[in-house]
Amino acid sequence: METTVLPPDPEPGGKTLFPSAEFVPNRDCFRSRFYPGISQALWNDWKWQMANRITTPEKIGQILSLAPEERDALEGSVRLPMAITPYYAGLIDPDDPGQGIRRSVIPTIMEVEKSAGEEADPLHEDLSSPVPGIVHRYPDRVLFLTTGMCASYCRYCTRSRMVTDGHCPIGERVWNGAIDYIAAHPEIRDVLVSGGDPLTLSDEKLQWLLTRLRRIRHVEILRIGTKVPAVLPQRITPRLVSILKRFHPLYLSIHFIHPDELTPDCAQACARLADGGIPLGSQTVLLKGINDDVPVMKELMHRLLQARVRPYYLYQCDPIPGSAHFRTSVARGLEIIGGLRGYTSGYAVPTYVIDAPGGGGKVPLMADSIVEHGNGSIRIRNYEGKVFTYPEPVQEG
Ligand SMILES: *Cc1c(COP(=O)(O)O)cnc(C)c1O
Repeated sequence: METTVLPPDPEPGGKTLFPSAEFVPNRDCFRSRFYPGISQALWNDWKWQMANRITTPEKIGQILSLAPEERDALEGSVRLPMAITPYYAGLIDPDDPGQGIRRSVIPTIMEVEKSAGEEADPLHEDLSSPVPGIVHRYPDRVLFLTTGMCASYCRYCTRSRMVTDGHCPIGERVWNGAIDYIAAHPEIRDVLVSGGDPLTLSDEKLQWLLTRLRRIRHVEILRIGTKVPAVLPQRITPRLVSILKRFHPLYLSIHFIHPDELTPDCAQACARLADGGIPLGSQTVLLKGINDDVPVMKELMHRLLQARVRPYYLYQCDPIPGSAHFRTSVARGLEIIGGLRGYTSGYAVPTYVIDAPGGGGKVPLMADSIVEHGNGSIRIRNYEGKVFTYPEPVQEG
């Protein structure tokens, strides 16, 4: 019998080192310059990364030259809360305040300007919360806010009210109440574990939580919402993956905003998760001047697919207070989706949604593809704008 020799395993995600970006970070150089004496091993320890998150204007001011609008937000009376992992800070362009990654984590004074229609809890999550920690909006699934902690704070975060409160109201009592609620509601077949970022919890706590949820017979699938693979890829250890894979079917939705986030470290983290059999999806917030551009969005989606992450949602940015400078028009969002659909793999096209203010849930948006409908046929428009007719079956009676 013929024996087949398999080729050696390829290096995961080796191709994705900033082929087009103007700013190419050099991690080793960044570490030795701003963290002298910190070994590669310590740098790669996620607990060190968490403990050394950048939260002060002094520290961030050593790493990059602050623009006036950034300085005003960090110093003086305003002092907006900030947290950035040293790893993610290494991806920031020190000389360009307009760089996407930089704008997503460095506060600016524009955040104190509240515009019309903006509110702290635009999705009215607090009103759809039957018990603390649970948002039950849809018939068969719940959102479980397990922690207020995040590895890095996104400036446009829909739940920034939870971090800016200055305290995290989620403890053991909240967890127990939320688990009891899920156990008492047999219609809940899908639990979305989110926060904050659940992957900032210790292995032990995460394991305890997932074990409790898995014991509930009617819970069919578990999902975790996280930005950790992008901002703290060191957290995705073989041990973490070996824990997570014991709770299948378990899905992961990862928050990504820009192709610069798909570093070799991030690609390796995604590869570990995918090798653990965890289906990976992405969630992206549409952000003005950061990713509201067809080539940037297309590159992000392509790199996600290369990392085995299937684009899931593209969100219109929620109207939290001080978000106007991040929000782009819906027309632009439709243009971006229109620039993907048909022009690239269907797998690379996320569903563009507005999470309806007031608590209406996610509403998908698409440019009109139905030209005319009735009289036994439907006229439809394709991605190039050409019109076609589909004959509908003749209705009986
Ligand atoms: C987004 C969301 C979900 C999950 O929605 P899917 O469309 O199933 O991904 C569930 N509950 C709440 C409150 C949500 O915001």
